Amino acid sequence: MTAFFATENIDDRLAQAGFESFRVKQVLDWAYRKPIFDWKEASNLPQNLKTWLEEHLPLFSMRCEVVSATGKFSEKALFRLADGGAIETVLLKTHKRHTVCVSSQLGCAYGCKFCASGLHGFKRNLEAHEIVEQVLFFSKKLYPKKVDNVVYMGMGEPLANYDNVIQSIRKLTDSKLFAFSPRRITLSTSGIAPAIKKLADEDLPIRLAISLHAPNDTIRSQIMPVNQKYPLATLLEAANYFQSKGRRITLEYILIDSLNDTPILATELAILAKKLSAHVNLIPYNPVKDLPWKRPSLQKQRAFLAILESAVPTSLRIEKGTSIDAACGQLALKQKD
Ligand code: SF4
Repeated sequence: MTAFFATENIDDRLAQAGFESFRVKQVLDWAYRKPIFDWKEASNLPQNLKTWLEEHLPLFSMRCEVVSATGKFSEKALFRLADGGAIETVLLKTHKRHTVCVSSQLGCAYGCKFCASGLHGFKRNLEAHEIVEQVLFFSKKLYPKKVDNVVYMGMGEPLANYDNVIQSIRKLTDSKLFAFSPRRITLSTSGIAPAIKKLADEDLPIRLAISLHAPNDTIRSQIMPVNQKYPLATLLEAANYFQSKGRRITLEYILIDSLNDTPILATELAILAKKLSAHVNLIPYNPVKDLPWKRPSLQKQRAFLAILESAVPTSLRIEKGTSIDAACGQLALKQKD
């Protein structure tokens, strides 16, 4: 038994099983574009095809155990993977847009000090189809409304699962399948410089968000171990390369009280962002149980924002339920709210 979205050659599989070629389009249509969660619901398919699909190519490889509202603007789905692991996917509903925030790994090995995702270590990479299924679940659930944006900002470091993440993006953007615009996809990374360059060379015009969180190596290394391997100079060189290909970068910056929220650091960040011509997205920290960090006061947040805004386009996410649209790890952070 293979997961449907893990199967590349649906036409061959159906032909080998003796089904007519015109069924391929119908099957793909139900899988990628219509609001069904089970082949039983595919009303124009003959019963023998539905039975065969259920036995050989089940529509979803993972089971949604619960969908819960996590605030006025978001809901969260908990999926049980075929091997028993659990991941979460979040739907954000802001400004009339629907954004699906997907996980790319089960756990995370990168150990950023402020992040809940890394607290229990790394279990495994998600397969491409497990990422695709997260998007299609909400696409089907939203029907006839549509998913407007997909962000790889949930649990895991997407660029550490490079091949599967790229494969999932190719599947989502394939014009014969889900036909999602790559320009509406944002991948968030903690800063794996060589993978950023590799991504720049792909023929995929997706957006990149760099989880910066500190404008100098001293503080960044303190909270993000990845910075020891790829310090800021290396990361910014990769970011420049990405932008030289005409791609857009956003800098994500979680504001943590008394750590990275001073006016001096705001000025340092403004200089760095200006050099990159990058938009800065400030995210007030969502406290995580068992971690010592706190959210700065509103006054400090606004002071930091004012310095940034005078130099580069900046946004400060303060609405409840939208802070998840922020950086890798924020999905799990939100879970602990
Ligand atoms: S912030 Fe991202 S890279 Fe860092 S531990 Fe969390 S999920 Fe991993």
